[in-house]
Amino acid sequence: MKLSWKTFLLWSLPIMVISFFLWQGFLAPTNNDLQSNVASSRMTYGRFLEYLDMGWVKRVDMYDNGHTAIVEAVGPELGNRVQKIRVELPASVPELIVKLKKANVDLDAHPTKNTTAIWNLVGNLLFPLFLIAGLAFLFRRSNNPTSGPGQAMSFGKSKALFQMEAKTGVVFDDVAGIDEAKEEFEEVVTFLKQPESFTAVGARIPKGVLLVGPPGTGKTLLAKAIAGEANVPFFSISGSEFVEMFVGVGASRVRDLFKKAKENAPCIIFIDEIDAVGRQRGTGVGGGNDEREQTLNQLLTEMDGFEGNTGIIVIAATNRADILDSALLRPGRFDRQVAVEVPDFKGRSAILDVHARNKKLDKSVSLSIIARRTPGFSGADLANLLNEAAILTARKRKQTITLNEIDASIDRVVAGMEGTPLIDSKSKRLIAYHEIGHAIVGTLLKDHDPVQKVTLIPRGQAKGLTWFTPSEDQSLISRSQIKARIMGALGGRAAEEIVFGDAEVTTGASNDLQQVTSMARQMVTKFGMSNIGPLSLESEEANPFLGRGMGASSEYSDEVAIKIDKQIQAIVQECHDKAIEIIQDNRVIIDRLVDLLIEKETIDGEQFRQIISEYTPIPEKRMYANV
Ligand code: ADP
Ligand code: MG
Ligand code: ZN
Repeated sequence: MKLSWKTFLLWSLPIMVISFFLWQGFLAPTNNDLQSNVASSRMTYGRFLEYLDMGWVKRVDMYDNGHTAIVEAVGPELGNRVQKIRVELPASVPELIVKLKKANVDLDAHPTKNTTAIWNLVGNLLFPLFLIAGLAFLFRRSNNPTSGPGQAMSFGKSKALFQMEAKTGVVFDDVAGIDEAKEEFEEVVTFLKQPESFTAVGARIPKGVLLVGPPGTGKTLLAKAIAGEANVPFFSISGSEFVEMFVGVGASRVRDLFKKAKENAPCIIFIDEIDAVGRQRGTGVGGGNDEREQTLNQLLTEMDGFEGNTGIIVIAATNRADILDSALLRPGRFDRQVAVEVPDFKGRSAILDVHARNKKLDKSVSLSIIARRTPGFSGADLANLLNEAAILTARKRKQTITLNEIDASIDRVVAGMEGTPLIDSKSKRLIAYHEIGHAIVGTLLKDHDPVQKVTLIPRGQAKGLTWFTPSEDQSLISRSQIKARIMGALGGRAAEEIVFGDAEVTTGASNDLQQVTSMARQMVTKFGMSNIGPLSLESEEANPFLGRGMGASSEYSDEVAIKIDKQIQAIVQECHDKAIEIIQDNRVIIDRLVDLLIEKETIDGEQFRQIISEYTPIPEKRMYANV
């Protein structure tokens, strides 16, 4: 049923009328004593006082907050029979009451009924109003496409289907650290500004560019910057907004979007999360989605439907190009792909530079130190980091952001909220040994990342944390580096075993063991780093719609499976032995460091190394060289 104003009025009028009478019947029985106690004659207050003095007044009933009285009096003037007379009383009656008491007059006050009458009136007026408002609310709700079941009502209606920004206000200077991607687009900007220079030589500018990269790397920002640089309008819509419950809505939105864009050419159309509509068709898992396919077809049709040089450039963003329908990637559609990667050290410095522009950083803060500490951070993470630091600074009522606040923010972004430190107890001591175990093994291995700090202040799920300064280049990792990491990860459990004994080890190492197992397994099945040989035993061609584990296929016999398990065990065994050895050999240092850690709760890397070096030489880290 389509709910229109006509039906609405049709229904609401009788409801209103009926409810009005119900209301009257239930709630407004106007039983007003004053009215039923009608006195036909009246007298003035002065005369009433005279009557009172004469002793003719028998009884007084007060009404209306003491403003009105019905007086029963007997007197010669009244024909010597009791009569009811109405008297209007002046505001203050206390003296009157005293008087009445003295004269021994029967006095009664009746609670005022007048206010109830007013409320009745107000209620009578308001109730239908509430009813109308309520109905109107329901009516509007059912017309709002964003709210649940009412969606049917909005069928085919176009609300704000896409955003249009006449001026994005973003320029290339606001985008940092992804220079290659930016260069790709400089040409596009030139085209949007002066298409003649291209058309004159018969060049065809790509209609569609696909930005591929992890979340938060600046894809949306870059698209906006292109529009901003070229000074053209920016139309944007997200793929997930296309996919509606009702067939045909997505397609009509695509049509609308392109129609509006053509009217405003030259311009940029930005489709975020294009994978929501642009997934490979017919992948079957979970059933086909006709609506999505229709939307996709419409999108393809629209992209084919305008000439390359009309001045519309469609930019789409996704974090997985691998699942896109191949039809989307054909020439004339999104035939150009631009990768937007997580920034490297230089990129991070540049992004920090951009976001530090409007922040009051202390002179002592060096952005390159922050960049060094944040490998793997995306542009959005870095922006968030500086913002967190600024908030923290404001909370501390400081004038400028110092490295302290930035460090605290990094820790928070990486490991979660800070908890309250444990009180001194056996478990605190055990955690201290566990963390120092990680830290000392990590420090004494040449191929391990250096310790940045050890702390007993809980964060997120962790009760204590050992931070390592990661090396910049995480893409090529050597066998000895992986092994060093496994040993370091086992250092915590090893310390527990040596110090407290096998019976006392805790569940605290479960996360470490998970990582250890995963690293050892990958060494064997993926990196060819065991004596099974350089074989890739687990293909990573996982079906993106099945989830990671499920789609991975094993390409080996049961015999090999047994070998794999043996190899994994051997690697872990070897690394565990090595970790135990390091702990045993350095027990004196460990005890001293644990005492210090329990006292101070945090030891930074410098101090940590300084103490260790008093006892034993620390191998020079290979990592330092290339950072
Ligand atoms: P994506 O679309 O790739 O998920 P966004 O463009 O929405 O990422 O980035 C979110 C925010 O993070 C931006 O508004 C910006 O403040 C910041 N940001 C991300 N990447 C960069 C970058 N390369 N340079 C500057 N700021 C960035
Ligand atoms: Mg985005
Ligand atoms: Zn641990």
